[in-house]
Amino acid sequence: MIDRFSEEAIWACTTCFACVDACPVHIEHVPKLTDARRHLVMEAAQFPDELQGVFENLERNSNPWGFGAHTRSDWAEGLELKVGEPAEYLFYVGCAGSFDNRNKQVSRTLARLMQQAGVDFSILGEAEMCNGDLARRSGNEFLFQMLAEMNVAALQEAGVQKIVTACPHCFHTLGKEYGDYGGDFDVVHHTQLLAELREQGKLKVSDRDTTLTYHDPCYMGRIDDSHEAPRKALGGEILEMHRCRDKTFCCGAGGARMWIEEDADKRVNLIRAQEALDTGADEVGTGCPFCMTMLTDGMKTLGSETQVRDVSEIMAEQLEA
Ligand code: SF4
Ligand code: SF4
Repeated sequence: MIDRFSEEAIWACTTCFACVDACPVHIEHVPKLTDARRHLVMEAAQFPDELQGVFENLERNSNPWGFGAHTRSDWAEGLELKVGEPAEYLFYVGCAGSFDNRNKQVSRTLARLMQQAGVDFSILGEAEMCNGDLARRSGNEFLFQMLAEMNVAALQEAGVQKIVTACPHCFHTLGKEYGDYGGDFDVVHHTQLLAELREQGKLKVSDRDTTLTYHDPCYMGRIDDSHEAPRKALGGEILEMHRCRDKTFCCGAGGARMWIEEDADKRVNLIRAQEALDTGADEVGTGCPFCMTMLTDGMKTLGSETQVRDVSEIMAEQLEA
């Protein structure tokens, strides 16, 4: 396969599943590409240079940037959250929500919304580790399994049954892949919980006075077929992009592409940012920390000041007292 497709093509895949979705004879291209990456990483030790540091950071500090693991819950300072205590939900924050400055704001907003709605939740704090999606999609299966086993042990020790997360990659990996490692959890994406809280009247949200388009993260919209929840959470009219819901177009970050340098003329995020601009909407909503980063960068590169915000942030702004 590597001889037929070239290493460049194997590393270019974002694991967006658009090809699998479109294939009339149900060929599963993505697992084959991931297998090829496994061979390149674990047997041939041939992979993009950028991934070397990322793998080391995951091994040493259980996050791709290499921030000190002891700073994982610094984002929550002053919020008075339960840490490692029994609660109905465990808020699995993920690496981006814990360490990336822009996405730390989303974590704080979501925590405040849950507090306001009376949701009983706690976080794992320093015991939380990267979910391992990045390691698995980039072919480092050994590292993925190590992270998955440690996370499952930490979650079980904390007595966790229900998990809420603001990251589609955490949502997919914890909910659909941790079962193989003894982790049987009921996992919801934050847009699903927010839609439910709005429906139950626990979050009262007024009409928007701006127009909005919504980027479906492919790990929600297509792969896990959950595209109505964010629209219910947001309410009102959404100016849809021509590729949306299960036909969404990837932002370019998936499949570890977030961590690999890209040729300027091949940037997937610019195509998607332009599609969002073509709707004429005032701002872009999304429900994925990596989509947020990619689309925000895309807007800047295209010279647009259009804001990209998480569903929780848009809701928080419309909250009735
Ligand atoms: S990038 Fe998406 S469409 Fe292209 S091969 Fe990978 S999963 Fe398939
Ligand atoms: S970063 Fe977002 S759009 Fe890109 S693969 Fe992940 S979920 Fe899909």
